[in-house]
Amino acid sequence: MERRHATYPFLDAAREAVAELDPDLRALADEERVVARATERVERALTDGDIGEPHRDVRTELLSYPLARVLVSLVDEHILTRRYARSEAGAAHERFTAAEGSKLKSAREQPLTADDLLAEFDLARHVHPAESDLDDHLVEVGAYLPLAADMRGEGWRLVNRALADGMVPVSTAERDDLLRKAVERRVADGLPLAVPTAVGDALDGPVADLRETLADLDLTRDIDTVVPERFPPCMKALLDGVQKGDHLAHHSRFAITAFLASIGMTTDEIVDLYTVNPGFAEDITRYQTDHIRGETGPTEYSPPSCATMQSYGDCINKDERCETISHPLAYYEEALDDADEEELTDWREANEEADDEGEAEA
Ligand code: SF4
Repeated sequence: MERRHATYPFLDAAREAVAELDPDLRALADEERVVARATERVERALTDGDIGEPHRDVRTELLSYPLARVLVSLVDEHILTRRYARSEAGAAHERFTAAEGSKLKSAREQPLTADDLLAEFDLARHVHPAESDLDDHLVEVGAYLPLAADMRGEGWRLVNRALADGMVPVSTAERDDLLRKAVERRVADGLPLAVPTAVGDALDGPVADLRETLADLDLTRDIDTVVPERFPPCMKALLDGVQKGDHLAHHSRFAITAFLASIGMTTDEIVDLYTVNPGFAEDITRYQTDHIRGETGPTEYSPPSCATMQSYGDCINKDERCETISHPLAYYEEALDDADEEELTDWREANEEADDEGEAEA
């Protein structure tokens, strides 16, 4: 076990180091120091967008990473998974760019460089030195696209890049941003994990604390923008079904209702949508919607994850973005992030304007 493994726990070599330690997950859940550091990683990701200071004990620091992924899996909220993966990637980015900048070579720390990361993600053979003075690197388009597809900002779109001979020129800072995205993907890969019940029970306390922090920050209800053109394909199809008056199966109805509630629609607005449905009964629809929103019980329901949607046959028309996310809300959030402000006309405002115009004409 090397300090580098604890500093960059997402590396394949770090996973091997953890495997060599062969930790019993159930016993690990009782190790106070490891649990405290794992909880700190996740908590700080939520509150500060970082993962806190590394623990001075290498074993504790190394093992806190897999345990943090377990905690994230137990809470199982896409916004937490996303923030956690971003924060781990941000910490890695800060460390390897600092190592690059200072060219610090310490035998004890063995700082990771961008070249090491390119090799780790099998990108080294796809990123070449640029020949002109204007750019630093040339990235083969096949390697560029999967990472850039997930980046914020129009500047990453291929149509806005000087693509030549199948190569995309990038600056060193942009190459490092692509690497950060690769780390983020690696951290989020496989989440949520299937966690044995005994481990989940032992981690009840930290999980409850994380849920409380999430609730305090109200992150699961922070979208409040309804732009159907940006919906994930599954929710577009379900919304279409609702508007055409199709009879939706219970799980499908639950999925679209929970999704609409999660992006800020009120019960009245959702009930209005269902009025065209065959057999529409306002009181039942209102009760079900309030129940999903957590207004008639202790639980506020999130829409199902992609895995659950798939198992019910509700995952349809998957597109490229679907390959990069594990939850329909994550899809929507990213689609909103990537859109220009002017493209984002809230459906509710557009409907109000149309109603006003209709009234004026009448
Ligand atoms: S992968 Fe997820 S977001 Fe995409 S269509 Fe399927 S359920 Fe929806």
